[in-house]
Amino acid sequence: MFEKGSKMEQLKDEVIGLEEKLNSGKDYYEIRLESIGGLGANLCGKMLGELGLKYLDVNSSSFSSYGSEKTGTPVKGFIRYCKKEKEIRVHSPVVEPDLLVVFHQALLKDVSVWKGCSQETAVIIALEPGQEKPDCLEISGEMPGAFYGLEAQRIAMKTHSRINVVMLGAALKLMGITDIKAGEQICIDTLGKKYPDALKGNLAGMKRGYEEVRRLDASFWNSSQGTEQNNKQKAEWGYQNAPIGGINPRFGSTVVADLSPSRQGYIPLFIKERCINCGLCHSACPDMVFQFAKGEYKGREMMVNQGLDYYHCKGCLRCVDVCPVNALVRGVESEHPNKEYFITNQELIRRPDYYEESGPDGYITSESYLTEKRMEGGEV
Ligand code: SF4
Ligand code: SF4
Repeated sequence: MFEKGSKMEQLKDEVIGLEEKLNSGKDYYEIRLESIGGLGANLCGKMLGELGLKYLDVNSSSFSSYGSEKTGTPVKGFIRYCKKEKEIRVHSPVVEPDLLVVFHQALLKDVSVWKGCSQETAVIIALEPGQEKPDCLEISGEMPGAFYGLEAQRIAMKTHSRINVVMLGAALKLMGITDIKAGEQICIDTLGKKYPDALKGNLAGMKRGYEEVRRLDASFWNSSQGTEQNNKQKAEWGYQNAPIGGINPRFGSTVVADLSPSRQGYIPLFIKERCINCGLCHSACPDMVFQFAKGEYKGREMMVNQGLDYYHCKGCLRCVDVCPVNALVRGVESEHPNKEYFITNQELIRRPDYYEESGPDGYITSESYLTEKRMEGGEV
């Protein structure tokens, strides 16, 4: 697995890899993947698990945990390795990971993502295109030992692969695997059968993930403030003052769910002049994105497509597939920061004073939903 004098020697000084960990007397080397549905973390975890058994001469196990299998929902993957003489008898989630792999920036602010991290944990973060390091994080708890990052989405788009293989490549590097052939072979075994046409791109994506993962300056981590903030939150939410009858004060949370982190670099672009207002996009879209309102088209009164609420768009591009006149086309999101036909969902937001106009790249963060009339049994 490890070649003397290779580039990996340098990395080994910074982070403890799989072989080193197992040789140091520890029972297990453990990885936790933190992701959201649609990014392929489940498959990435399975490949990492099989890789151990088939090509690394160790025992391994892997499983994922997720709720409903929907794009955008939280997904965790757990992979455990031990020496081949040993039997894996632990089947619980990985609590104290040696390697934590975070597939999306939106997860970084979630305190649960960092649970169990210590100075022995190495973290790989998928960075946004052009990003040097993540935005400042205020997290309570122990700071991980080292941070690494790579522009996973950009690499995936360039190589026509997906984020999961890019992160797989990065994980192999941090595990101290010097021979990338093992990774290539597991991709061929798994993806070659399932998606033979995409294999070339996936292999390229994994190789670039392996080569481009780099050490990050940890100055974005601010644990002291995080602790304060956490304490404040604890003080605010206790048994004496929590909302009666439940723990989620954001009822109707689908309304406030921001699905934009699920997008993988692409968005549907609306070319209004081409639109014939057939409504097929509205039928195909799994969310509340398309905004139709009474209007006029070719001299006739009808429901007219006004635009899209990108806040609810997860970027599945089903609408692009069904549009019969190419009025919806696939676009690279970073090239369209000011989405021309962004329009907030008027059905969901009846009273303008209840929400903040935050723009196409913003969040609807107002507490309006807490005070909606529905709470008092009235009409929403
Ligand atoms: S890509 Fe299209 S179909 Fe998919 S969520 Fe966005 S608007 Fe709806
Ligand atoms: S499917 Fe295309 S043509 Fe039909 S309403 Fe949607 S955008 Fe317009």
